[in-house]
Amino acid sequence: PGLEYEQLRRKIEIQARELSYFTLKQLEKFDAKLSEQDKEQLKNVIDRFGDQSRLLLASIRNLTKVDGYNSWREKEAKDLSNLIQARLKKLQNPSSDCTQTKRLVCNINKGCGYGCEIHHAMHCFHIAYALGRPLILLSEGWRYNPDGFDKIFEPLSNKCTKEMTAGSEPWGKNYESSQVIELPLIDNIHPRVNFLPMAIPEDLSQRLIKLTGHPFSWFTGQLMKYLLRPQTWLAEMIEKKREQIQFDSPVVGIHVRRTDKIGSEASYHDISEYMKYVQEYYDIHQYQYPSVKLVKRVFIATDDPSVFKDARSKFPDYIFYGDANISQTAQLNSRYGTESLKGVVLDIHFLSLSDYLVCTFSSQICRVAYEIMQQRHPDAAWRIQSLDDIYYFGGQNAHDQRAFISHRRQFSDEFDFNKGDTLGIEGNHWDGWSKGSDKNNGQHGLYPSYKAEDIVQIASMHTYPDVTV
Ligand code: GDP
Repeated sequence: PGLEYEQLRRKIEIQARELSYFTLKQLEKFDAKLSEQDKEQLKNVIDRFGDQSRLLLASIRNLTKVDGYNSWREKEAKDLSNLIQARLKKLQNPSSDCTQTKRLVCNINKGCGYGCEIHHAMHCFHIAYALGRPLILLSEGWRYNPDGFDKIFEPLSNKCTKEMTAGSEPWGKNYESSQVIELPLIDNIHPRVNFLPMAIPEDLSQRLIKLTGHPFSWFTGQLMKYLLRPQTWLAEMIEKKREQIQFDSPVVGIHVRRTDKIGSEASYHDISEYMKYVQEYYDIHQYQYPSVKLVKRVFIATDDPSVFKDARSKFPDYIFYGDANISQTAQLNSRYGTESLKGVVLDIHFLSLSDYLVCTFSSQICRVAYEIMQQRHPDAAWRIQSLDDIYYFGGQNAHDQRAFISHRRQFSDEFDFNKGDTLGIEGNHWDGWSKGSDKNNGQHGLYPSYKAEDIVQIASMHTYPDVTV
């Protein structure tokens, strides 16, 4: 397929979704002011509009089934994955003695949750890839397994070990010259180099952009594929669980993040808010596959065990997978340690195996699951509905969009912008508007999401010329 075709196909899905967010939210607003008779009429309009939107999305999603390019997509995803994995293997196992190689050191012990610590290790691995320096991950006394990361996942290297971290210098202007550099938290990286997340490597950029609607998370998914190679016992445990719960497709994964997050970092979302999008996914799926008898499965991951009962009693026509015991250990009092780690690894694994995800991108668990999900599809960019934030990588460089249609303020809180302006995006409200600012005219506020698109950050990184697959 041509690049333009792939991009246009993805754009149509995004535009149809934005149209539906906007129109439905606007129609719902009128309800309170109407007479009983008009309310009835409005409800019919909303139902009809929703139904037509879902049919339209089914048609759009069916395009990839009939356009004849799926074998190319599958092969390209496999080839790119093999290439990146080969590069990482080479990176981590240099042919010369590791002590003769410029290298990086990163301590996983950030003192936060599992998703947070994995993302911390990931930013180190991202920099390692970009600079072509092997990464030595220190994990002694890790709160999720005090014996170390290597007992859970395969060691990152057979050649570069923790004994080779002596004499490390902190990150600074020396990042190219020093022999051993210890990486700080991503927020403390100064100077702010252009290859930090969400940058993708320049030499793979055109392939990634053609393959997927979200090149950065796809690339990150590949780094994670290497970073989180399970030890045999863990792989066996995951497989056993899969058989035990009879995990099957289609399935929608939902992650309901509650407890300590509520009020400070995220809002409370009722199970019905998740299920609204789950229902929508299945309605679209049914239009896509009209002759298949639909079984509606949902995998629940949560740190609030009451979610299972709530979901099962309110939505009896669904099959809910998930483990209330795991969620019990996910509660605050037993959050750390190896048992907790097993629970969260299992939950993330099954979320990532789902056909669609409904979760809150404010949670790192939701983001890790989405990143791992990218490993399973050429393009999983559309397979998510976040209830709050847009995707981000904590500590990332500026996330910008480009306006491709000019705008003159029409609703209060909006701002004017011109075609071609750079818009710094802070969030999408899933109601037709995004929040942000225009970097050309300095204005701040809301803007219609459909008039702008992401600018993919491309940075020059190490090119691994000696790796061929
Ligand atoms: P965040 O706080 O949601 O951004 O994610 P973190 O992974 O950084 O910290 C949350 C911690 O809560 C995790 O490490 C888990 O221990 C626990 N947790 C949250 N949600 C779940 C879940 O769905 N399943 C399990 N097993 N644990 C969870």
